[in-house]
Amino acid sequence: MPDRRRAERSVSERPTTDRAHDAVLRHIEDSLRSGDLRLGDRLPGERALAEQFGISRASVRDAIRALEVMGIVRSATGSGPNAGTIVVSDPSSALGSALRLHVASQRLPVKDIVEARVMMETWSLAHAAAAPWEPAQLAEPRRLLEAMDDEALPSAAFTALDAQFHVALSALAGNAVVSTMMDSLRESIRGYVDEAVLAHGEWHSIVEELRRQHRGILGAVEARDGERAARLVREHIEWFYAQTL
Ligand SMILES: [Zn+2]
Repeated sequence: MPDRRRAERSVSERPTTDRAHDAVLRHIEDSLRSGDLRLGDRLPGERALAEQFGISRASVRDAIRALEVMGIVRSATGSGPNAGTIVVSDPSSALGSALRLHVASQRLPVKDIVEARVMMETWSLAHAAAAPWEPAQLAEPRRLLEAMDDEALPSAAFTALDAQFHVALSALAGNAVVSTMMDSLRESIRGYVDEAVLAHGEWHSIVEELRRQHRGILGAVEARDGERAARLVREHIEWFYAQTL
């Protein structure tokens, strides 16, 4: 079926592939969490996945290739018992739970998480300025920003959205490894921010400043000003950390 394959390739443009890869990855994460899928299980075939996600088979192949590079699945051709695409690692738990454990047992200092965040997020936002993202990709960080404007939001809900906002912004740089690391750090970020908020006790005095800083960061990304976005995200992370010392 060479003709069909060519046709599929022509519709497989970069942003579509990124979304497809995201959708397939999220599906695997959700299925592992719910127990519908376990490590060692086989993914449905290309055709079934394409139908399930409403994407082309070329996009499915690209997504599988990306997951393979990330070490989440392993593909084998042929028709034997080991053929097909097998899930070999849980994308969300591998690094994420190891970090959570370290943080919980205080073997991974908050200071080190903060430094790692500054490193990854300044790099991401500096690169996001020149990355080929579509304006529509800003919908998710914008939605999170609006959700954080809710005055009635409990601090724990705010910090969860805050961590998601940083993951979504970093993803605009288009680096799959940095995105995965940021996503894995999400719960650790939320964890130390939550603890800091509880210890600080003055939530109302800092939440308005956090909103102001977030708007500034998103504005710089929207304006494709990488230098300003990187500076503002560094100031934001370090300012909050300073409140907790
Ligand atoms: Zn933030």
